[in-house]
Amino acid sequence: MPFATHLVCRECGKKYPLASLTACEECFGPLELDYDYAAIQKSLSREMLQSRPPNMWRYREFLPLSEPPKVGFDVGFTPLIHARRLGDTLGLKNLYIKNDAVNHPTLSFKDRVVAVSISKAIEFGFRVVGCASTGNLANAVAAQAASAGLESYILIPEDLETVKIMATAVYRPRLIKVRGNYDTVNRLCSEIADEKGWAFVNVNLRPYYAEGSKTMGHEILEQLNWQVPDNVVLPMAGGSLLNKINKAFNEFEKVGWIQKNTAKFFGAQASGCSPISTAFKENYPDIQPVKPKTIAKSLAIGNPADGYYAVETIRRSGGRADDVSDEEIVEGIQLLAETEGIFTETAGGVTIGVLKKLVEEKHIHPDEVTVAAITGQGLKTVEVLSETTYSIPIINADYDDFEKVLK
Ligand SMILES: [Zn+2]
Repeated sequence: MPFATHLVCRECGKKYPLASLTACEECFGPLELDYDYAAIQKSLSREMLQSRPPNMWRYREFLPLSEPPKVGFDVGFTPLIHARRLGDTLGLKNLYIKNDAVNHPTLSFKDRVVAVSISKAIEFGFRVVGCASTGNLANAVAAQAASAGLESYILIPEDLETVKIMATAVYRPRLIKVRGNYDTVNRLCSEIADEKGWAFVNVNLRPYYAEGSKTMGHEILEQLNWQVPDNVVLPMAGGSLLNKINKAFNEFEKVGWIQKNTAKFFGAQASGCSPISTAFKENYPDIQPVKPKTIAKSLAIGNPADGYYAVETIRRSGGRADDVSDEEIVEGIQLLAETEGIFTETAGGVTIGVLKKLVEEKHIHPDEVTVAAITGQGLKTVEVLSETTYSIPIINADYDDFEKVLK
């Protein structure tokens, strides 16, 4: 039985039935899913939940499907690691890493949102799905559309990392490079969705799609044994992930599984594309769009759709937003790899870089429980690292040569 009740506009409060909609028809405000939490509380307990298979669908009552899921049975329930060595280096006793670099099937948190939106597209009867993507979403849509036997159209900015292009193309979607940045691609996709009547997961299925991110928040609480962390540090592209993790925490408060959502939310951006953190720091009443210029391409959204709401969530929680340079992003990637054996893509370098800054500036205190989210796999953006950094010797297959290298 579905527990999602309706869509509601975050701006004017107008309610809509569960249909394929991009935004409020009255005021163009974003649409949020609402649920019957009292009914969820009656029909589901923490114990029942814990007996389910370890994937994102264990939280299905909190997801907007009316029928059983169609894809994504290996998505989610990624490790939450007590990061002792990185914590020691940064001066944090209780640091945890939520590691979606090992999410399935395509090694980023986008597998979560795509599992929901493709299942929903099939429910709605769409035969063609698509997306505008900065890379990870392209991988996830192409893979899950292939597994569902759906035709897919994937539009990407022309300058994406080679690995992200190949890791999309291999699934044989209709992959199209568009001249311009993500914001340009996104506008074109809105037009195509209207004209063709296809399901663009982050356009006309956006309200459903975005709900998939909540499962990362649900998992964090379950994996911390229903303890609410003091701080959560998250990367921000469109700003949706941060809002949805906050929503997940609020949901577990509503059904009585945690006492109160007291977590502070911290948002991380690259300085080369920081419209959200700038709006926070400068106290702007609104988001000022920017032209992205950063190696963190998966976060390079100059006009973030949920940016305003992310600033609001951060402020209300008592957290902060900040940004780091491309150099600090690579240092962040390096630091996480050396201390925890986790290889993250550039977005994770942004998160670790900002985490380091927050600790140095004493916004995060040593004894607090802090969770930082790694949202994608390092192999996808390997080109930001350079072999020359590592001075790797080359020798003949000769023992004496080996001894020489050790000196
Ligand atoms: Zn509205």
